Parts: sequence; C-alpha cells; structure tokens
Amino acid sequence: MVGTLYVRWTVVPTVAPQPLLACARCGDVTPFRSSGKVRLNAQGKRMDAWLVYGCTVCGKTWNRPILERRRVRDVEPDLLHALQANEAGRVRALAFDVHALRRHARRLRESTDVEVRKQALSADPRPWSDLRIAFDVPFPLPARMDRLLAVTLNLSRARIQKLETSGRLRLLPQTRRGLRQPVADRLRVSIDLLGLSDGQDLADVASRDG
Ligand SMILES: [Zn+2]
Repeated sequence: MVGTLYVRWTVVPTVAPQPLLACARCGDVTPFRSSGKVRLNAQGKRMDAWLVYGCTVCGKTWNRPILERRRVRDVEPDLLHALQANEAGRVRALAFDVHALRRHARRLRESTDVEVRKQALSADPRPWSDLRIAFDVPFPLPARMDRLLAVTLNLSRARIQKLETSGRLRLLPQTRRGLRQPVADRLRVSIDLLGLSDGQDLADVASRDG
C-alpha cells in the first residue's frame, strides 16, 4: 500500500525590502528601514497616511505615501482603523508590499532570507510514494524556487536539478523558467518518492519544522 503526503509550506520573508534613497543628511544613497509606524494627517474630509522609514545610517526619516489626499469616506474602514491604531500586522504587510514600495523608490534592497513554516495537511499511511508541496506566499519574494527547495529539503541544488530532469520533481503550473522562477503563491511541487532510497526521510523533512 502506497500513498501521498500533502504538505503546505508558508514562505515569509524575514527582512522587509529597503528603499535606497538619497539621504540629505548622509549626502549619499543609503538603505532606509521601516519604523513600523504610520503617520496620519487629516484635513477636512481628506487624509494622508505615510509609513515612516529611517535611514539605516543616520536615522533621518522618510515618509512613504500610503494614502494621498484620499477622501476619508473612500478609505476602507478596516484599513482606516488599522492605520489609526498602528496595527502591527497590517503595518508589517505594508512594509513587505514590494510592488507598492516600488512606486515611490526606484531602487530597493531586497533580502532573499525567508522563513518556511511547514505543515502536514493530510497523509496516507507510510510509506509514501508521492510528496505534494503547496506554497502559501503572502508577500512577493525574490527567492528562487530551486534554492528554496534545496535549503528547505536539505539537498544540494544539483540533486534538485537531477530530480527535475529525471521527471521525479514537477512544478505546477509548468512555466518556461521552471525552478529558476521566484517562489510564488499557489505554486505546487510534486516529488515522486517511489524507489528513492531517501524518499521517506525527504518526506519527513518536508513536513516537519526545524
Ligand atoms: Zn542618512
């Protein structure tokens, strides 16, 4: 009797992207880091909101626009409340929103450091013939799929490549860049474990944290 092990990997960046800006005080282009604090300014019926960043060298602040001259009644109540309360989770999501940040900073420093939280979803009894990994990626990441698989499964990248070329490892949906593409939400990887001498160990590593 052989079966399938389903796991979910939630992949989150550990360091928010940092805009590289001309710091007036340093007289140089320096990385700025989110302070985790939001500034609000309401004038009549309109409001502005900024996420406050600080130069990593001298601390000079830079305000990244979140809402600009927006009519208060047009702001989604959830967002308004989160901004007013400086809600940590929501502010963190803003700091990790690399696409929005790019609108205000041409150059960014992006870290490829990620944390992978593994969760076994359901499993047939051992031994497993198939491993299915579903990816949950709440923020855009610059991390490449082959690197992430290698590090998280404790395998060399050569081994990952070999698994792919032999057809044992498949990325779904299939794309031109294959495993060189960045890790993204809703991608899936399946690995055929049948006949792999370390197949069951691999499945263990894939389904357990640490
Ligand atoms: Zn500075």
